[in-house]
Amino acid sequence: MKCVFCGGETEHTLVTFSYEGENRHFLVENVPAEVCNRCGEKTYSPGVTDELLKFAKDKFKPVKKLEVPVYDFNESR
Ligand SMILES: [Zn+2]
Repeated sequence: MKCVFCGGETEHTLVTFSYEGENRHFLVENVPAEVCNRCGEKTYSPGVTDELLKFAKDKFKPVKKLEVPVYDFNESR
């Protein structure tokens, strides 16, 4: 498969999908995707995208929860 962004070759692999919505942030591990070996862009098949939307709708219980630290960039200056 060719990357739609840069035309590079993609590789079928498992990735961690990161969802960032309003007041909600979660990860889905072991998601099959095509990853471009040039620009790193991840492409999901329509079927996989449908499955990922189910997680966004809160249909499943998470297997684990991580605490995500949040920093303010201005604190470093
Ligand atoms: Zn690419």
